[in-house]
Amino acid sequence: MKVTFPHMGQVYLAAKGLLDDLGVEVIIPPPITKKTLEIGTRLSPEMACLPLKINIGNYIESIQRGTDTILLSGSCGPCRFGYYGVVQKEILNDLGYDIDIIIFDPPDTGYREFIQRIKRVAGRNSWLNVARAFKKASIIVEEADELLEIGLKKRAREANSGETDSRLYAFEREVIKCYGSYEILETIRKYKGILESIEEKTGVFPLKVGLVGEIYTLIEPFVNLNIEKKLGRLGVEVYRSLTLNEWVKIHLSLDMGYRLHHRRILKKAEPYLGLCVGGHAWQTVANSIHFSQNKLDGIIQVMPFGCMPEIVAESILPRVYEDYGVPIMTLVVDEMTGEAGYFTRLEAFIDLLEQRRNRTGEKKPSLSGG
Ligand code: SF4
Repeated sequence: MKVTFPHMGQVYLAAKGLLDDLGVEVIIPPPITKKTLEIGTRLSPEMACLPLKINIGNYIESIQRGTDTILLSGSCGPCRFGYYGVVQKEILNDLGYDIDIIIFDPPDTGYREFIQRIKRVAGRNSWLNVARAFKKASIIVEEADELLEIGLKKRAREANSGETDSRLYAFEREVIKCYGSYEILETIRKYKGILESIEEKTGVFPLKVGLVGEIYTLIEPFVNLNIEKKLGRLGVEVYRSLTLNEWVKIHLSLDMGYRLHHRRILKKAEPYLGLCVGGHAWQTVANSIHFSQNKLDGIIQVMPFGCMPEIVAESILPRVYEDYGVPIMTLVVDEMTGEAGYFTRLEAFIDLLEQRRNRTGEKKPSLSGG
């Protein structure tokens, strides 16, 4: 069995750690490039969501490297994500690829199915081994997110411009050579220390901007055109509303404390939206309120073109702005998005936030409560 999976930010670290520990051969898709997007766009229905097109590009590039099994994530919707796994399977079947496709729906939609599919991947591993491998993978997710969060703080304050990114680039080159969760975690921990030691400028009070929106677009840097890096280079400290770690804690772990914390944030959206309309629209509204209450300087919503749930959220955000007064900008990405225009909009928004802060003279405290 040679297994692959789609790219989504640092998912590949946990997936590789997990599969290595289970003794399953892994083929990590090559990093997403314009070619990946071009392949996916050519082979997917025109109106399919951008993440689906990129996933297809990932699979084809992995198949060209010898993959015979694909792990896909599934969902019960209610937006088009509910059909993702099945549609991707149909596309690959129609293209004539003779490969095994295993769709993982989140366990809270059916534990029995979830366990059966794990068994297909885990083979002869004992359940104890499987449980250990999952536990270590969840630690990788948590620590990899912590590494990125150190990067978000350092980028906005680094004394030597570009140092954070060059350290993170070195991390990516080193971690890809690791085998198993132990080596991956050691490398993450080593680079957490390296990032922490980056020298900071003194007397700097970065603008604080929260990112909200569709999860894949937020987490995958190729799709959001490296928004975290671009904002960091503009001297902005970025706060992420959705992370892989959060997703794991809500859907896969038994951490009731975290689930309650998540519920409390969702409740904030009640006056505007009190139910799931698909994707992460509910979270987008709730986190925008949460960021506003914590007095961030601005909020940016990022979403793929035609994303129905995020369009619903976008229509609500002006009311959140009216009620809380924190500026919110929406950025829409698709396969045609040009980097120059995107960056100009980001710069203009940050200029506006700076002028606003200069008028009020307020220096923001750090965000509390996640
Ligand atoms: S959340 Fe948006 S982008 Fe994702 S599947 Fe649903 S409609 Fe498509």
